[in-house]
Amino acid sequence: MPGFDDLLGQDAAKTTLERAFSLGKVHHAYRFEGPPGVGKTFAARLLARALVCERVAGCGTCSSCTRAMSLATEGPEIPGHPDVIMVGRGLYPASLIGSQESTGISVDQIRKIVLPRMGYGPHEGRALVIIVLDADELTIAAANSLLKTLEEPPQNTHFILVTSRPKRLIDTIASRTIRVRFGPLPKAALRTLLHTEGLSPDEDLLERAQGSLDRARLLGSEEERATYANFVEAVEKAVEARDPGAAVRFAESRPGERDVLLDHLRYLGTSYALRERERAERAPERLGEFAEDHRIVLRAARAIEQNGSPALALEALILELSDRPR
Ligand SMILES: [Zn+2]
Repeated sequence: MPGFDDLLGQDAAKTTLERAFSLGKVHHAYRFEGPPGVGKTFAARLLARALVCERVAGCGTCSSCTRAMSLATEGPEIPGHPDVIMVGRGLYPASLIGSQESTGISVDQIRKIVLPRMGYGPHEGRALVIIVLDADELTIAAANSLLKTLEEPPQNTHFILVTSRPKRLIDTIASRTIRVRFGPLPKAALRTLLHTEGLSPDEDLLERAQGSLDRARLLGSEEERATYANFVEAVEKAVEARDPGAAVRFAESRPGERDVLLDHLRYLGTSYALRERERAERAPERLGEFAEDHRIVLRAARAIEQNGSPALALEALILELSDRPR
């Protein structure tokens, strides 16, 4: 089906959506779940395009298709088709919706952007599609204001909720939507996607990207690579010092934002995983031992993910690594 041909590396999701179309059973509320940077939002836009297409399920060439896939270059970055509505935290200026959205997607945004469109149907005919970006950021008030509509939307109205943190999604929202799972992108798909952007990734980059196009793009820029490399170097230095003071100093120099720090730790973890694979090729019987460094990094990342103190997790990381044979 032409509508979803561009969705690379997500065969299961693609099949689900194509089947729904061919059976004429496109559900009124989906949630697209999966890691960041694997094509969920892109898929949501393809589904929206297929729903508003003037010909068949996303021909890609009619005016509706073209506008559904284009994003405004001025003002909020939203699709150019009036029946494809996008909401997301901070997408619209506070002056428009009357809220700063410091805690999440506000009820004001839902009231201003989504609810007024309910009950009037699509402007141009075929369907009205609402894409909710990072739906786990819906505040409780915003989620509550959507519940009734999600359960029984007006005819030809479809919701697509996108999330890479499904566990944080409010239960009542999750239970009213049908899940479509997205996985990490296979390397071949990642390579093809990067090629279309004029990048030629090497095997190392594909490995480190861990199936995420966003991550691959990030690692593709020299500047970012250098930042990560510096982090790894700082870890190595602190570990070599074998001194609690060095661990504390390293912990104090960490990236301030939790998500950024976690990205750095994942990079470190991947570095160790790659190193451990190389070592294991030479001495397969010692694989378990080599894998320990990687596990120590993962433990630190998990502690931080679970809201542990980043400083304590990093100090423990350095001290544990210091105890390991180098
Ligand atoms: Zn079309």
